[in-house]
Amino acid sequence: MLLINNGYVYDPLNKIDGEKVDIAIKDGKIVEESQINPLEAKVIDATNMIVMPGGIDVHTHISGYAINAGRRFRPEDGRRWLEPHTSIRRSGAGYSVPSTFVTGYRYAIMGYTMLCEPAMPPLLARHTHEELNDTPIVDTTAFTLLGNNWTVAQYIKRGEYERCAAFIAWMLRATKGYCIKMVNPGGVEAWAWRSNVKDLNDPVPYFDITPAELIRGLATVNEMLKLPHSIHVHTNQLGVPGNFEITIGSFDTIKDAKVSSIRGERKQSIHVTHAQFSAYGGDSWNNFESKADVIAKYVNNHPYVTIDMGQVIPGETTTMTADGPLEYNLHSLNNLKWINQGIELETGGGLVPFIYSRASPVNSVQWAIGLELALLIEDPFQVYLSTDHPNAGPFIRYPRIISWLMSKQSRESQLQKLHKRTSKRSLIGTIDREYNLYEIATITRAGQAVALEMSDTKGHLGVNADADVAIYDLDPNNLTPQKIEKAFSHAAYTIKDGEIVVKDGEVVSITQGKRFWVNPQVDEDLERMMLREIRRTFALFYTVTMPNFPVQEMYVPSSNEIKIDATYIS
Ligand SMILES: [Zn+2]
Repeated sequence: MLLINNGYVYDPLNKIDGEKVDIAIKDGKIVEESQINPLEAKVIDATNMIVMPGGIDVHTHISGYAINAGRRFRPEDGRRWLEPHTSIRRSGAGYSVPSTFVTGYRYAIMGYTMLCEPAMPPLLARHTHEELNDTPIVDTTAFTLLGNNWTVAQYIKRGEYERCAAFIAWMLRATKGYCIKMVNPGGVEAWAWRSNVKDLNDPVPYFDITPAELIRGLATVNEMLKLPHSIHVHTNQLGVPGNFEITIGSFDTIKDAKVSSIRGERKQSIHVTHAQFSAYGGDSWNNFESKADVIAKYVNNHPYVTIDMGQVIPGETTTMTADGPLEYNLHSLNNLKWINQGIELETGGGLVPFIYSRASPVNSVQWAIGLELALLIEDPFQVYLSTDHPNAGPFIRYPRIISWLMSKQSRESQLQKLHKRTSKRSLIGTIDREYNLYEIATITRAGQAVALEMSDTKGHLGVNADADVAIYDLDPNNLTPQKIEKAFSHAAYTIKDGEIVVKDGEVVSITQGKRFWVNPQVDEDLERMMLREIRRTFALFYTVTMPNFPVQEMYVPSSNEIKIDATYIS
């Protein structure tokens, strides 16, 4: 039993904005204070501190073949940030591609308790889960890559949405995934043919299906299955000047799908991830400029859209994405080493080391775009803090982003260090908005919980929520950018499922988080018909047999299965 007394609580889902509310914890859950015997409970005195729900990261590459390739590919990165083992925790290392154990510790030290790995190739799902098992403390989930899948493309092309839904249901069950992830829909399949798709209506070789048809089709299937999260989309032509029109087009694609009518009150229907990389104007790197204002205006007028920032952090990092052609473009720009992989996995992937240089006009404007998105989108429930770790920067820099969002002065001093063209090619210098702690709690916790449809137990501190709590040594009446960054970098306490796992910025206890995955059930006859078809696909084209494909339960020891009744699909 725990009692957190006298802290300033920021809990947007319960509309608590800095009030002093005592939080009572019993058996891993938040409970009414009357259920706790104060004489038996351990009391945390949070005087002059802030209390928030545990942080949630909706998009961070922490596990599986891409990050693991990065660890092997960049031994120089692995020699930085060495952390020795203690009697409690294991050793680890790495700055942009940290090893699994320190990934869990570092997130917990920042007060985060739930992470989403956003790029799980179906054929390598086991590997993703094994590494998530080695990521301590935090709850986790993984998004299954399905935007360039052959079977999906064929079903949608033929208009067989019910069979496609049955296939997606089976895939999510087989890979123990949480949602439908799309990366450069259709474009990565085209990459296998040494090509890419130019826009939303450019057909994919052989399959003759367009990105727009794939996005609309999978959004429709997503709604048919009532999956908790929406489609999670990395847009086409990501990272390319002028791509903002494709991003707006991607949002528009689902306008006429039967999305909102099926979702009804559930407003979130498409999530565009690391939107900074998708908000570019100009038609070359010479006239490259921010179009964050256009994207933000669209988001402000369309409550069904959510995004995460993909905020650039000046400095060195490692880029990694399932978007094979994008990594080829990056490699062509900086001529650093390059991995191209995964094309045989019905997805693709690449890695390139990258330096976001303060002297570069392009990188400077990229820095501005992420912040502009967060500052121009009015409702913080529609925009979440991310760096697309490690693509735009490592997750350990989140506290710095918080200080930029909360302080115009902090942004100004960063802007002084960047290329002078930044203010001409973006609006960042003209924006006065400063986030308050309530809004920070929304973009780092509450918003993600709603978008993932986990807000019954996550992202808030009301009765029955999981007792995942972060306490920061930060007095809201005395805020400076330095104090903000320092406090959010090292939580005074992180509590996971009711247990104190971090104290004064140090890991003091190791727990194993839960793995969330969805298991939709469709009509049995429909599933049988679908299975008959894909058995043939497996026999003809796959290097694993079908019984070997699904991830066995032993790979998901702390499984938290979410059953969904979709048997009305027949
Ligand atoms: Zn990503």
